[in-house]
Amino acid sequence: MVINSNIKKDEKYNGFEQGPIRPPSEANSLLIRVTRNCPWNHCTFCPVYKRTKFSKRPVEHVIKDIEAVAKHIKNFQEITKTGNSIYHSNLQNIINRLDNSEKNAFFAAYYWLTSGMKSVFLQDSNSLIIKPDDLIKILKHLRRKFPWVERITSYARSSTIIKIGEKYLESIGNAGLNRIHIGLESGSDEVLKMVKKGAKKEIHIKAGIKVKKSEIELSEYIMPGLGGRRLSKIHALESADALNRINPEFIRLRPLAIPEIIPLYDDYKDGRFKKCSDPMIVNELLIFIEKLEGINSILKSDHILNLFSNLEGKFPQDKKKMIRILHDFQNLSPKQQRMYQLGRRLGIFSQLDDLEQPYLARRVKKYYQDLGVTSRNIENITDNLMKRFI
Ligand code: SF4
Repeated sequence: MVINSNIKKDEKYNGFEQGPIRPPSEANSLLIRVTRNCPWNHCTFCPVYKRTKFSKRPVEHVIKDIEAVAKHIKNFQEITKTGNSIYHSNLQNIINRLDNSEKNAFFAAYYWLTSGMKSVFLQDSNSLIIKPDDLIKILKHLRRKFPWVERITSYARSSTIIKIGEKYLESIGNAGLNRIHIGLESGSDEVLKMVKKGAKKEIHIKAGIKVKKSEIELSEYIMPGLGGRRLSKIHALESADALNRINPEFIRLRPLAIPEIIPLYDDYKDGRFKKCSDPMIVNELLIFIEKLEGINSILKSDHILNLFSNLEGKFPQDKKKMIRILHDFQNLSPKQQRMYQLGRRLGIFSQLDDLEQPYLARRVKKYYQDLGVTSRNIENITDNLMKRFI
């Protein structure tokens, strides 16, 4: 048996494990936990793994997790093959026969079955940090057990990817990893340093180009607002420049939010970090999208924190449409902008057209009045509402 560093030699298998997050686009994926937590864990904007310790799971434990899910999937398929449906009573009978350590795998399998079983996501924050041969073993096992799966994806850090040999990255792709999600966050070295991302712009670019060369799809996350008011423009310009040089398949927007638990909160509270208002973010996005050139990436706003869920499209053909959405917001009166901000953060609006829906607009207007929204308190009110989504 190969023993990796960060793996406890005699670690006991305690049943199927699941980590805390996955990208929004992997909501229907089977989550297979390869490592626990984040090996970096210094980013000042990130709430996810603070006060946790990173570890690699023994490959044999990951394989056991896959086997456990496969066993339940096979049972479900046996039931449905005979024309029967999986009724609540069947489920209860199966659950009653399982011991506690088996239940997590059962629920993961059932949720995956009812979600179409099309994709798998490897958790946690940087699965590519394990030995390439171990990752290949896990990927091959997944492909063997679930041959119908269309997509296997993972998060990875740029600073990890640049250390993997090109041939190994290709082998990882050939073994079945279709897509890597990278938190680029910003192309500005000043912003990256300020938030302790642990990667410079050139590292992000090198890693991105390397992933593309290995023919694994690349999804890059950008965090609108991360530069605050002081670095908003440079954040937009440098992020667009980095992405123009990488040309990833996907650019995903995941705006900054500042809950109390992140290190950046102290800077924000003490006035060292001045958060952008929503209209400032719209301006930043305008600079960013206008500067995206020579790429054929798909831009997605698939995180609930985005101000416009329909700010999406493929470059270059949809660029004008995306810019129009941002201009349309800027052309609203200040009061209409506040109405939209409030409606969006309440989860009632998802795009600007919703302002024209009488039923939705009436609901938001009522909240607007009850909360006493003004130009002075709108950002506080919406900041508090956004914390629900983190
Ligand atoms: S590398 Fe990712 S998971 Fe780790 S602290 Fe930074 S943002 Fe969070």
